[in-house]
Amino acid sequence: MDFNLSDDQRAFVEMASQFAEAELAPHASEWDEHHHFPKEVIQRAGELGFCSLYTPEENGGLGLSRLDSALIFEALAEGCTATTAMMTIHNMATWMIASWGTETLKQQWCQKLTSGQALASYCLTEPGCGSDAANLKTKAVRDGDDYLVSGSKMFISGAGATEMLVVMARTGEDGPKGISAFAVAADSVGIEYGKAEAKMGWNAQPTRLVSFDSVRIPAANLLGNEGQGFALAMKGLDGGRINIAACSLGTAEAALKRAKAYMQERSQFGKPLAAFQALQFKLADMATELVAARQMVRLAAFKLDSGDPEASAYCAMAKRFATDVGFTVCNEALQLHGGYGYIKEYPLERHVRDVRVHQILEGTNEIMRVIIARRLLDASAGVIA
Ligand SMILES: Cc1cc2nc3c(=O)[nH]c(=O)nc-3n(C[C@H](O)[C@H](O)[C@H](O)COP(=O)(O)OP(=O)(O)OC[C@H]3O[C@@H](n4cnc5c(N)ncnc54)[C@H](O)[C@@H]3O)c2cc1C
Repeated sequence: MDFNLSDDQRAFVEMASQFAEAELAPHASEWDEHHHFPKEVIQRAGELGFCSLYTPEENGGLGLSRLDSALIFEALAEGCTATTAMMTIHNMATWMIASWGTETLKQQWCQKLTSGQALASYCLTEPGCGSDAANLKTKAVRDGDDYLVSGSKMFISGAGATEMLVVMARTGEDGPKGISAFAVAADSVGIEYGKAEAKMGWNAQPTRLVSFDSVRIPAANLLGNEGQGFALAMKGLDGGRINIAACSLGTAEAALKRAKAYMQERSQFGKPLAAFQALQFKLADMATELVAARQMVRLAAFKLDSGDPEASAYCAMAKRFATDVGFTVCNEALQLHGGYGYIKEYPLERHVRDVRVHQILEGTNEIMRVIIARRLLDASAGVIA
């Protein structure tokens, strides 16, 4: 077992870190304050392949593994959590279109999406069903060569600023087997966008309600077959959860570095904060938990890459653990800064606000426990150890 990164992986991380330092970190605070969605910067990230990391090469992506992708997202998130998180959602939606789209759809959209010229949102949550996503109510009714989509989607990241929506809608029976997935052009007639939600964090990207009123979309925009949509949405989320976990790791790493430096700069009672053992222990715990979370994210990515039948449970474990650790590390780094941690001149309060939502979206951390426990208690499940 070799825990070292390969030369290629080190090169990817180096490239992502350089991009994060040059293009993301210097502006992250301003984007947060002004609620600016830096689409042009994401498009520049697209020129380096960051908008299609694990989309297959034949569809214009880099075709990297989930492990390589997680390393890159972690490095990017050190620069700006909210922007990187939006890139991860775009990567997930793009991968879904490339993996299950019809040839017609792929020809129309893949090049634009993989290059980052067009961005994609992922639309599963509805006002009435979040955790219970299999109960969704948005409908898609076949009408000749088209479908008519009606309903609404809540909390959609990037909505109103993206060009493509991957929408899960009901085409059949109640429950998960009656759901299909569609690629819907974001400017289709009948789509309306709600106001940008006023949020605690993730302010460098908009979050909106999206309403569909008999939106006509070609049948060629169906992903996979009718009835497969929920399974495809969950496959997307397996990778998505690793990516969000990686965003927590990157942000926590940034917070840890700041805390370490601050403990050496700041003196109280005639000595640097770093001299107090209580604070040394806090730092030691932050680093220990972050290293453990990083290994878990990499293990889950490896399980997904190697087609392990229990990969979903590992992805859920990694998402639950790394996003909890990410929040704790950022919060402790804020505490180590005392009052300065609480003011906006320092990035700690933004880190705390940004990583908090990682414990909620792409399945709450309670739902991660539901997924893990279900597999542990299923007699037909494979080894989870
Ligand atoms: C900023 C932001 C961006 C988002 N982006 C997207 C996006 O791009 N696309 C998208 O589709 N969705 C998105 N979401 C939605 C997100 O995935 C949901 O908010 C999340 O899945 C929870 O759903 P809910 O808010 O309806 O909470 P609920 O499902 O109502 O849950 C409320 C509470 O009950 C708990 N709970 C529910 N059921 C159980 C259970 N069985 N056992 C134990 N506890 C339970 C939950 O964990 C939670 O604590 C986003 C949300 C936010 C805040």
